[in-house]
Amino acid sequence: MNKDLSARSILARVLEVAMYTGHAMSCLFCKIVEGSIPSTAVFQDDLVYAFADIGPKAPVHVLIVPREHIGSVKEAGKDKRALLGHLLWIAAEIAREKKLDKGYRIVVNTGEDGGQTVDHLHLHLLGGRMLTWPPG
Ligand code: AMP
Ligand code: ZN
Repeated sequence: MNKDLSARSILARVLEVAMYTGHAMSCLFCKIVEGSIPSTAVFQDDLVYAFADIGPKAPVHVLIVPREHIGSVKEAGKDKRALLGHLLWIAAEIAREKKLDKGYRIVVNTGEDGGQTVDHLHLHLLGGRMLTWPPG
């Protein structure tokens, strides 16, 4: 392999690990993903962790988060398109598994006006009751 390229990829990896470690120390959902804050797991794979919301707003209320720290969809670059699709697919899989046959809602609060309170991208899967529209 080209020496410059491999040095660059090692440096990129070191920066990635340093950034991850930084987020893991300060971000609530990074701590939940790594297990230093307890949660009730609903689903997990190499990219995604899903767990029960601590303050459920419906009989089923699951949060689906990427294992890597991404602040919100605003911060998700083009390289994250497949991951974003995967998060949506997993939300639908969990809804099937939970037998939410009558329907459900997937919500992605984004930024201050969007009501986002935890700055680590997450999907809410809400179901098990009739949900009203529009949201507040
Ligand atoms: P949002 O307001 O869209 O940023 O959603 C954040 C969600 O995280 C809220 O629904 C909270 O109830 C939920 N939450 C906060 N802390 C925890 C926790 N320790 N475990 C599970 N869910 C949490
Ligand atoms: Zn995080």
